[in-house]
Amino acid sequence: MLQVHDSAARWRSFFEETCANEISTLAASWPRQIAFTQDFAQIQSWDVPFAELILNHPRATIRNADTVLATLCRESGYEANPRIRITGLPPDALHKLREISSEEVETFTTSEVIVTKVSELKPRIYNAIFTCTTCGNTIEISQPNELELIEPLECPETGGCGRRRAGGQTRFDLRWEDSVMIDNQWIEVQELPENVKPGSQPVRLSVLAEAELAGKHVPGERIRINGIPYVRTLKRGGAKTPMFDIYISLHSSERKNIPLEEIEITPSEIEEIEKVADRDDLVELFVRSIAPSIIVGEEKMNWIKKSLVLQLLGGVARKFDDGTRTRGDIHILLLGDPGVAKSQILSFMGRISPRGRFTTGGGTSAAGLTAAAVRDAFNDGRFSLEAGALVLADLGLCAVDEFDKMTPDDRGAMHEAMEQQRININKGGISATMPTRCAVLAAANPRDGRFKDVDWGDPSTYLHKQIDLPPPLISRFDMVWMIQDSVDKGRDRRIGEHIIRVKRKGVPEHLIESGHSVEPDALLKDQIFTTDVDGNDVLTADFLQKYVAHAKRTYHPTSDDKVMTILVDHYTEKRQKMDDDVNSVSLTARSIEATLRMAEARARLYLREYVTEDDAKQAIAMDGIWRHLANDSNINSDHTGVPKRAQSAERTIMAIVRNLCRELDGECTTPEVYNVGLEQGFDEETIDRVLNNMRNRGDLYSPRIGLWRLN
Ligand code: ADP
Ligand code: MG
Repeated sequence: MLQVHDSAARWRSFFEETCANEISTLAASWPRQIAFTQDFAQIQSWDVPFAELILNHPRATIRNADTVLATLCRESGYEANPRIRITGLPPDALHKLREISSEEVETFTTSEVIVTKVSELKPRIYNAIFTCTTCGNTIEISQPNELELIEPLECPETGGCGRRRAGGQTRFDLRWEDSVMIDNQWIEVQELPENVKPGSQPVRLSVLAEAELAGKHVPGERIRINGIPYVRTLKRGGAKTPMFDIYISLHSSERKNIPLEEIEITPSEIEEIEKVADRDDLVELFVRSIAPSIIVGEEKMNWIKKSLVLQLLGGVARKFDDGTRTRGDIHILLLGDPGVAKSQILSFMGRISPRGRFTTGGGTSAAGLTAAAVRDAFNDGRFSLEAGALVLADLGLCAVDEFDKMTPDDRGAMHEAMEQQRININKGGISATMPTRCAVLAAANPRDGRFKDVDWGDPSTYLHKQIDLPPPLISRFDMVWMIQDSVDKGRDRRIGEHIIRVKRKGVPEHLIESGHSVEPDALLKDQIFTTDVDGNDVLTADFLQKYVAHAKRTYHPTSDDKVMTILVDHYTEKRQKMDDDVNSVSLTARSIEATLRMAEARARLYLREYVTEDDAKQAIAMDGIWRHLANDSNINSDHTGVPKRAQSAERTIMAIVRNLCRELDGECTTPEVYNVGLEQGFDEETIDRVLNNMRNRGDLYSPRIGLWRLN
């Protein structure tokens, strides 16, 4: 039988027979390129028992592979230490994190995970060189253990003096400059959310990445890790215990590049999707299928659900040759009284969207909504970088309840996270950029819990003033819906009856847990339709998710001149009106992007590669409706609430500076004020004039040109 100590010879034959050329190329490009990638299937087809040996004894066989690689490099005239990186492990090596136990320890294991945290990089000695202080002899010891430095016990008889460390006969000095160091990084990984049963906590594990793998991944990435689970003794109060912790030593990592690859759709399911897309009542069917337990009898709720359908599908994100990018995701904000089903809608959307997440602004983790550099036990109290909800929902949808309760850090990072759809963190020796390419569906309550009646003579009662969110942040949303809980006998009765009928249809949880009934959504698995309480057909959550994933990854609608004309005409007309009417609201160029996204989303819903004139018209209608409803509620489209001309430039610009200073550690620059100010309709000249006036009056203090602080 093939033994571990035979593996060096096997590797040599394998390399010589299958990839001699690649190895000499690699030798020449070392150390620029460290990794030598090898597909497992190729080893398997070369020699099955050898491939088995690698799976069962990865640590020793891989070490041998690296040694053989170094020898081959030397033989072709190069001093190089490349590392083999085996990828494409077979399905029987695939395990969920929660399945990794003592059985898998020290075997080659692969897992699908999401990266949640990374530590800073730290150099570690890989090969230590010691000198005996008595005779000057050199001793080399390789260091496989990241927790403990292995020192020589004695100086060898041959070539050295034979003295021992014990009893103080001699000492050994570590020669840093000659020892080989490599980078080390701890990575925390978590099971993929879709593999976790609802209600249970995802399992997390710490992974040790070395050399070129350290620093390769950022939080939020979904990867397949190939590695070797190993154990370390758990220490309690400095003493070793018989308990162990499992870690994974990372050998290689792979990334799949199909977006939303976790949702598998069969060809017959695609046929079903296309059949549904052909229905005349497609939009109504989708609207009915969004949170069916929430009544749509009311016109506004109907529009809200329609907007949520568009949000699920989203517009097309595009990149340009100047390196910029525009987002395709549609952000929606629900502002409203308590008890109007905001949380219910959010939790539904978080559940059915591919890569959906539901979280609250107050947050449950230190990383909050965006990301944070945290100090905790994961990295021995040093900094590590942790992904927040938006990062983990990359390419999906993040539903954020209690959006107004988010932390000051999140408030500061949110603008970038929503518009540029990435987060930069630079703190504690870690710097990374993480993507947040998700649609944000946020909900917030009025500041005092409930909207107070609007008194037209008192601007502080205007609805937007009752919301605890800064205007620049609100302006990141494509649509803002105001939901007031007003008394209306007919509607109250309809909602009341609907709620009771929904409840009657539910299955008591006790019966499910005692095994007398089945989980109602389990019955719907692989079904396309179900019925709502009114007996209408609606799509199941399972099918909705597949539909959306298929549409999002297959269709990237483009628009022609006709579509452009419709959207631009609408925009310019609105701007014109705004200019004529002193009391009207201002509207920025952002709105044209928003309508294009909505039109693209609608084209996607119909599984089309192009935007039609109808899509454009419907998008305009949607844009008009939310603005109209928002205006009725006295929140204008610029979210500043006061008609443009009537606004006091000074007050508004002062407010902008105050917000910026709060978000940006107490000071802000003139261009930052421009950025926000321009959006609110002020030109640079006005902003300069106001800033200078305020400095002269002592409201602001400028430590140097272009930098502002509050006095
Ligand atoms: P919010 O988050 O806005 O405070 P919730 O989502 O917690 O409100 O809703 C409170 C309850 O009222 C939920 O059980 C919800 O189903 C019910 N409800 C409120 N409005 C409606 C409606 N229009 N149709 C059906 N149920 C509703
Ligand atoms: Mg709520």
